[in-house]
Amino acid sequence: MPSVPYRGRLAPSPTGLLHLGHARTFWFAAERARAAGGTLLLRNDDLDAIRFRLDFVEAMIADLRWLGFTWQEPMISQSARLPRYRAALECLHAAGRIFPCTRTRRDVLEAIGAPHEGGADDEPVYPPQFRPPIDAPLPPLGETIAVNWRFRVPDGETIAFEDARCGPQRAVAGRDFGDFLVWRKDNLPGYQLACAVDDAELGITEVVRGDDLIKSTFRQLLLLRALGHAAPGYHHCPLMLDAAGGRLAKRHDALALRTLRERGVTPTEIIRQFHSEPVKP
Ligand code: GLU
Repeated sequence: MPSVPYRGRLAPSPTGLLHLGHARTFWFAAERARAAGGTLLLRNDDLDAIRFRLDFVEAMIADLRWLGFTWQEPMISQSARLPRYRAALECLHAAGRIFPCTRTRRDVLEAIGAPHEGGADDEPVYPPQFRPPIDAPLPPLGETIAVNWRFRVPDGETIAFEDARCGPQRAVAGRDFGDFLVWRKDNLPGYQLACAVDDAELGITEVVRGDDLIKSTFRQLLLLRALGHAAPGYHHCPLMLDAAGGRLAKRHDALALRTLRERGVTPTEIIRQFHSEPVKP
């Protein structure tokens, strides 16, 4: 028996309607929690100021309930936890682990000298020549941040973890991924920082999410270590693909849970199709 009870999370972003792919990932998360006799939190990842909509928050809660998911109340909204992320940023700043970055995406693409291919994780490796020298004094953060701040990754270090579903995973910092955003110039934390802080501070024992986020896990492991937190376990599930083999996006309205419901599809029918993929104990 593990000494700490299992605690997982469902972490939807209210930037669109939930679709079948989200339901499947959340079903894996719920099954993992159930099998371990643990609990789930609902985390509302509402830090995308541009795409956020309150009606999507209401819709995601209603859709999750309709499917029969349960979680420990109250729901945690990231927008209510900004002081926690800011405290973490200050720790990273005091330890000299971050630097301000005024480069645009275009600067980065030009510097790497090739049209970026994109892909599941389409963030190009940040060019090391854009970093300030390691011993350059850092400017203060200031109360309102108006510049991007990036985490300086330990070049050449292999980061490894054992994924409960995908097995051993490794990536080399500075080669497979580069310095990444931790705070944005619109004065909001980046996804990596908010997620790492939440997983640690909310006592998440296992993160279950789509395998498009495996690269993010390496970044979050670096942040957790830099902040002195233990890492949770990880279980990345394969993403559901559309008929053409592409990624299901929120714009695939035909697969939105809302649309299926309106067409008379029942939660049981939806969940039944997920059972073909066994959930590892
Ligand atoms: N809100 C994020 C997403 O929908 C969740 C990421 C995570 O589970 O860490 O992609």
